[in-house]
Amino acid sequence: MGFDFTLSADQEAFRDAVRRFVQDEIAPIVVEMDEKEEFPRATIQRMQSEGYFGVPIPEEYGGLGLGKVGYCLLVEEIGRVDASHGAIVGAHTSLGTTPLLYYGTEEQKRRWLVPAAKGERLLAFSLTEPGSGSDSGSVRTTATPEGDGWVLNGQKIYVTNGAEADTVLVMAANDVKLGPNGGVTCFLVDKGTPGFSVGRCEKKMGLHGSSTAELLLDHVRVPADHVLGGVGHGFVAAMTALDVGRVSLGAASLGGLEASLTEALNFAKNRTQFGLPISEYEVIQFKLADMAMYAHALRLMVYQAAAHQDAMGHDPTAWGRLDRRRKTREAAIVKCLASEWTVAVIDEALQIHGGLGYIRGTPVERAYRDARIAEIFEGTNEIQRLVISRDLIERGL
Ligand SMILES: Cc1cc2nc3c(=O)[nH]c(=O)nc-3n(C[C@H](O)[C@H](O)[C@H](O)COP(=O)(O)OP(=O)(O)OC[C@H]3O[C@@H](n4cnc5c(N)ncnc54)[C@H](O)[C@@H]3O)c2cc1C
Repeated sequence: MGFDFTLSADQEAFRDAVRRFVQDEIAPIVVEMDEKEEFPRATIQRMQSEGYFGVPIPEEYGGLGLGKVGYCLLVEEIGRVDASHGAIVGAHTSLGTTPLLYYGTEEQKRRWLVPAAKGERLLAFSLTEPGSGSDSGSVRTTATPEGDGWVLNGQKIYVTNGAEADTVLVMAANDVKLGPNGGVTCFLVDKGTPGFSVGRCEKKMGLHGSSTAELLLDHVRVPADHVLGGVGHGFVAAMTALDVGRVSLGAASLGGLEASLTEALNFAKNRTQFGLPISEYEVIQFKLADMAMYAHALRLMVYQAAAHQDAMGHDPTAWGRLDRRRKTREAAIVKCLASEWTVAVIDEALQIHGGLGYIRGTPVERAYRDARIAEIFEGTNEIQRLVISRDLIERGL
């Protein structure tokens, strides 16, 4: 195995195109979007028509076929300018399209994955419930067999894209006693299915452009061919999707980190106090140096983990046990460090801005509010440390 960390010409061209798109289309609207707390429908539609909602999906299923590395390039570039757009594309791609690609039947791929990858349908992923957060195998939304299908009943919360999605991947308990080991099933539930409705939409500290919705399931009837990955296999499908999500979340965090470092650098070079630009003071220089170290290390970690996932391919039946575990550990490490380093770097960037950093509308102020959630969602960092330490104790380094 080689250690080639350079991007191909195609990958560079893709990254540059995304960078232009983000600057031209997203940057101009983020301040207003953040203030009004509105879902950025127009830019999301533009992103969908560019193919940005199917970046890692093979071309035969309507995607751009650029793998996890290409997908991380996309979310890193988006993350430099706006975390809300990153969360919207992330919930759809990592958590929505991954289970379809990895576990869907050919028929399900044609029906749901192809339009999702082409940007014709928006997806959401719904695991969390009021009583089931970190203990995600304990979902209480019930799935009861009826005729040749299922009836779903329950309440889901905190669903990114939940208010806008055309299809939601809903995890429900087919057998509460079995829990994560065979008791959770993933259902593809389409908008408009009788009994399926959007409840409360949360007001949040940050990520103001992305919706976070409650979903209510009241005797929702779904046919048997809406079961994804087999009865009782929903928890495995969800965790596999989260492995992808945690690495791409690392890439999104990296984008936010780099943008705040750049803001801090420019500010420090231009802000004069005591007769000198503050970048001339060693205290500020060392802050900037620490920030650059985090950026460098995080970049290597994110793209190594993404390249490893690409090398594993998208057929879970072909994965060896050790590769599977390495992937999960790597994803937990990337997610945990990326979110913590990014929060730390943005905090320092805000400090370098002095009072201006605390003023509404300054990019580091918004970045600070947006970044904090990455330590919580897609599994809290405490849970990532459980995943890492359990694997470490069993397998060693
Ligand atoms: C903006 C936003 C978007 C989200 N998007 C989605 C989505 O699209 N789909 C979805 O399904 N969910 C989503 N979530 C839910 C998110 O993944 C959960 O909030 C998260 O997993 C934590 O669950 P919880 O909030 O119930 O906290 P809890 O599980 O109640 O945790 C509370 C605290 O206890 C700690 N803790 C819990 N168990 C342990 C333990 N065993 N050891 C040590 N510490 C522990 C946690 O780390 C945390 O600090 C979203 C949440 C937010 C806020």
